[in-house]
Amino acid sequence: MAKAGDICTFCGRSSKDVNLLINGISGAICDDCARQAYEIVQEQLPKPKSSLGLDQKDLPKPEDIKRFLDQYVIGQEEAKRYLSVSVYNHYKRLLQNNDNDDVEIEKSNIIMVGATGTGKTLLARTIAKLLHVPFAIVDATVLTEAGYVGEDIESILTRLLQAADYDVNAAQRGIVFIDEIDKIARKGDNPSITRDVSGEGVQQGLLKLLEGSIVNVPPQGGRKHPEQKMIAVDTKNILFICGGAFDGIEKKIASRLNTQVIGYAAKRNNAAIDKNNLLKYITPADLKSFGLIPEIIGRLPILTYLDPLDRNALRNILTEPKNSIIKQYIKLFKMDGITLTFDESVYEYIVDNALKFKLGARGLRSIVEAIMMDAMYSMPSGNIKELHVTVEYAKEKFEKSDVNRLQLT
Ligand code: ADP
Repeated sequence: MAKAGDICTFCGRSSKDVNLLINGISGAICDDCARQAYEIVQEQLPKPKSSLGLDQKDLPKPEDIKRFLDQYVIGQEEAKRYLSVSVYNHYKRLLQNNDNDDVEIEKSNIIMVGATGTGKTLLARTIAKLLHVPFAIVDATVLTEAGYVGEDIESILTRLLQAADYDVNAAQRGIVFIDEIDKIARKGDNPSITRDVSGEGVQQGLLKLLEGSIVNVPPQGGRKHPEQKMIAVDTKNILFICGGAFDGIEKKIASRLNTQVIGYAAKRNNAAIDKNNLLKYITPADLKSFGLIPEIIGRLPILTYLDPLDRNALRNILTEPKNSIIKQYIKLFKMDGITLTFDESVYEYIVDNALKFKLGARGLRSIVEAIMMDAMYSMPSGNIKELHVTVEYAKEKFEKSDVNRLQLT
């Protein structure tokens, strides 16, 4: 092997003094020097242009993203389509090269409106599973009292930085889901006055982030204080997805639809209006009358809605998603070697009660929990390895539990 004198050409040590000597055509390199050389290469070479590490051809297409969402989220077709397209376009913006034309693809932040417990956060979390960019979920309610005891707007970006392991470049391409955006609506126009202290001030602050600007972010979040070292984050390429229940907005939609019937659009609007799902007619004007400032609405150009969950949807949520509630309980029991099965009628019984007590999708889990509690308590220490849940069993256990404590919504 040692044709070039059996020594490392870089450090001069002989093969006896090193662990490994790799020979080349006219020299050799030892393991230590190879390692050092590698480190120099890492430091000196420019990083690849796209830190996404993706080619456009590798990107999940909107239909792929939607198919992925379908595995976890029941229904909500429209919201899924809008989200899928937005995320795909976000990737494309990050990959765009601006060399041969003046066209710059701008970002399209999204706002999703839907009653609580219809899957907004679930959609956001599911999207996060498949993303190739940092993703953070933040709650706008902690911002309502900014300037008082709440957090500064910039803390939204702290979460993103944390999700990106403080890699600023990566964070600047990330996606932020802002939940409960309706809670920062301006008072006055807002029928359900929440504990809004400075709604409009918070909206103005948020506007800066949405517009795209350089923001000084406290690395640990919370309130800013003078000695803290800030990290500058450019929000130009960060995609914002907002969600909110906008309680009471249906009334505004309904009154707008009614007045329109008299106007020139009478013919079109006379077509049956789906009164059970007024959200599907939502427009930016309704967000404005709810109390979002027009500038914020302008920065959230994609407006979509979630459908209320009907009986069928609730039934499917129980068993269909990849990690459905029922599948989770089966797994819990399986870990103790117990086979858990259910009569079909039990599912109907659970849905009936979720509807009866107006518990929505969130209540499904509480009801199943109430039914399974006794078995989860005693079976792990017993010898019985099978449990078949009949509707009689479910009824007995559920009626024993305190339904009032399940009232969640
Ligand atoms: P929101 O953010 O709209 O208030 P969530 O996404 O937090 O509601 O939903 C609460 C829970 O209800 C979820 O964790 C999930 O278990 C269930 N859920 C709600 N909507 C759906 C849906 N469309 N498909 C599947 N599960 C759902």
